[in-house]
Order: sequence, then C-alpha cells, then structure tokens
Amino acid sequence: MSFDTLGLSAELLRAVADQGYSEPTPVQSRAIPVILQGKDLLAGAQTGTGKTAGFTLPLLQRLNATAPDKGRRRVRALILTPTRELAAQVAESVDTYGKHLPLSSMVIFGGVKINPQIARLRAGVDILVATPGRLLDHVSQKTLDLSAVEILVLDEADRMLDMGFIRDIRKILALLPKRRQNLLFSATYSNDIRQLADKLLDRPVLIDVALRNTPAERVSQVIHPVDRERKRELLSFMVGSQNWRQVLVFTRTKHGANRLSQQLEKDGISSAAIHGNKSQGARTRALADFKRGEVRVLVATDIAARGLDIDQLPHVVNYELPNVPEDYVHRIGRTGRAGNEGQAVSLVCIDEHKLLGDIERLLKRDLSRIVIPGYEPDPSIRAEPIKPRSNTRPRGQAKSLHNNRPARVKAKENKRRPGPEKAKGNSRRPLQSSRHA
Ligand code: AMP
Repeated sequence: MSFDTLGLSAELLRAVADQGYSEPTPVQSRAIPVILQGKDLLAGAQTGTGKTAGFTLPLLQRLNATAPDKGRRRVRALILTPTRELAAQVAESVDTYGKHLPLSSMVIFGGVKINPQIARLRAGVDILVATPGRLLDHVSQKTLDLSAVEILVLDEADRMLDMGFIRDIRKILALLPKRRQNLLFSATYSNDIRQLADKLLDRPVLIDVALRNTPAERVSQVIHPVDRERKRELLSFMVGSQNWRQVLVFTRTKHGANRLSQQLEKDGISSAAIHGNKSQGARTRALADFKRGEVRVLVATDIAARGLDIDQLPHVVNYELPNVPEDYVHRIGRTGRAGNEGQAVSLVCIDEHKLLGDIERLLKRDLSRIVIPGYEPDPSIRAEPIKPRSNTRPRGQAKSLHNNRPARVKAKENKRRPGPEKAKGNSRRPLQSSRHA
C-alpha cells in the first residue's frame, strides 16, 4: 500500500514524503479515504498508530478544496484534545502536513497568556487545535466564533471523558453548526464513548485498528517484584547498569514525581518531572531537554504524559502501577512506537498486587515476573493500602471538599477553570440524554 492510492493531493503527498514516510499505517489507509468522502468516522486507535496524520491529511485536503478566495479566515476545522501537550503536538502535525498549502492554523490551551491568542484569532485562522477549557474561555470572552466549523475532531475522546470534560464538550457542540463532519478517535470503547458517538456521529464509518486494550505486540513487558522502599534504588541501578539513555517513568502522584526526580538527580542521573502543577513553560522545556537527550529520565504522571510524542522511546518504567488498568495500556503505548522495539518495566511492591491482577485481567494474560538479584522482596513486609492520587478528585466533589473554606477563597476557586490535571474526573459519570445540551 502506498500513500499515492489514497486520493491525497500532490501538496500533501509532498509533505508526507518530506517526513520520510514510505507507506501509510493501517489507520491512515483506512481513515483517509473515508474522511475525504466527507463521512463521519469512529476510529479505535491509540497514540502511536499514526492517527494524527490519519485525520490531519484528509482534513487539510477538504478545507483546501473549499477555501474561500477572499474575506477574513474563519475557523472551519476544530480539533479538540484532552491535554495541552497533545494539542501542541497535533498543531505541530497540522503545520508539518499543511506546509505546502495556504491554510492557517493555531493552537490554544490554558496555562499561557490569553491576549496573544486573542490577537491571533482576530487575524483569522482556518484550523484550530484546542483543549476544551481555554476554548470556552475564549467563547465566554467573545473572542472566538465557531459558527463556520465544517469539521470537528475529538482526539483521544476516551481520555477527555476520563478527565471530566463531557460538560465542556457538550457546551462546545452547542456552538457548532448542525451540519458538519465529525471524527471521533478513541483508544478504548467504553459505554460512555459509545453514548457520545451515538449523539455526535451521523452514520459513522467504524474502524478499529489498534486492538482495544491490547498493547502493541512489539513492546516487551516485565514485572520486577521489589519492596516499596527499594524501588528508587532499583530504578537507579537499572538505568545505570543497563545504560538506559532515555527513560519515561510513571508515578501515581505529582508529589511522587517531584520526589523521585530529585532523588534520581542525587544518584547522578539527570532527570526532570512533568505534571500538571508545572507551568506550561517548564513542561515544554522538560520535554525538549528529554528529547534532546539532556535529561535521561523524565518522570511523569499519567495525565501529563498522555499524548507525548517521543520518537523511538526505548524504555517505559511503571514506578508505581496506575489505579486504572487502562492507564497501564496508555503508559506502555509510549514505547515501541512506529515500528520500534520497546521495553515496559513495572516495579511492583506488595501493596500493588491487586492493581497488577486488574491489569492482567484486562490484558487477558499473565506478565512475566523476574526478581532482580539483590532486590528480592522481604517476605515479612505486609501490604499497606494505596493512598488515593492527589490528582483524581472528581469535579463533582470539589465543592464538598472545600465546604469549610472562607467564601472568598471558594469564589476564587470557582472562577478558576481547572486545567486538565485538576479536571480529571469520574469516567463513569453517565451522559445526559440531550443531544447538544
Ligand atoms: P500518532 O499516533 O499520530 O501519535 O503517530 C505516532 C508516530 O508515528 C509519530 O511520531 C508520527 O510522526 C509517526 N508516523 C505517522 N505516520 C507514519 C507513517 N506512515 N510512517 C512512519 N511513521 C509515521
């Protein structure tokens, strides 16, 4: 299969060739013709499958075919993503693939100044990539008009629902013209996703390329049983003795990410932490340093790491197992991407045996356990309950948690829109039945 047979224009084929891609990935070869025909699409595809080019290329082609000659540009394609990092990466892809076309795009997300975004929006853009919160800030300030949107993409829709963005999504849908093309990408098909798809999509074409909840076969997975107090030591030992140069390490909490990163630095291993309490600038810098090889270990929480596009990432370490088994699949999807071999290592202490069981049930197989000599678990240590994550407060609970705070503080908190990490909410919350309420 070659890109030439998919119906893409010469400008787009040139951009693809510039990237060095020789053939389309499965999601690309199936999604591109469908999107070019103007149909709605429901695609089961996780990060690493090439889904971004899968929707960006045909979207650019459709917009370019109907681009008005004159007048101010209006937003004709809206791409929503759950996190700032993913928004930035998708926007980069739009630029990359659209570089030979006269279309303009921009990205908007929170955590950075709003005024430059307003100025840029005023100048007119064709394609807008955004996270839901900041998008609605613009809508409420009347600095954004969505009445000309022809194509809507919800990228990583499952994660948007997990993060409690369903209300924001509904508000945004209500602002869009009724007639439009809708593309929904999701790594998993929960009931919530099915309900959203039912409301949003009109006779969609379904494609399911990444086997649901099945990590890429090319990722080798291993469990190293170890005592909770010795995990840090074991991690340093593995990074050092095996000379790992680029490792993404997951912790459950932001605090844990910071602490581990500092400890690794003390061990002489260059490290940075990336999570929702860090400023956008700090996150971007840490990621850039990691990509350049200046930082060897990037320690991240699940939300911060979601959608990170790091080419050829060889090692992912679960320093702590995630509370939600699906997050394990997302985490190890960071490695073994686009045809490269990857290794996913989980350091598992006695407290996490239940979490490990949940993961193995989801994967429908047992993961191999290898005890590292010198790090054998002490059989006399008893399991302790796992503390809840600091960043998993469902939105609905926010009020009761702060009930005894002074009113002034509460008012300030209510005004502030939560960023993605703060918004992480209850994924089981049922959708309401109204279509665009
Ligand atoms: P995505 O799933 O969109 O995050 O893409 C995963 C990675 O695959 C990105 O680094 C892309 O640059 C890369 N990629 C996308 N399409 C292709 C292709 N046809 N051939 C090789 N690599 C690709």
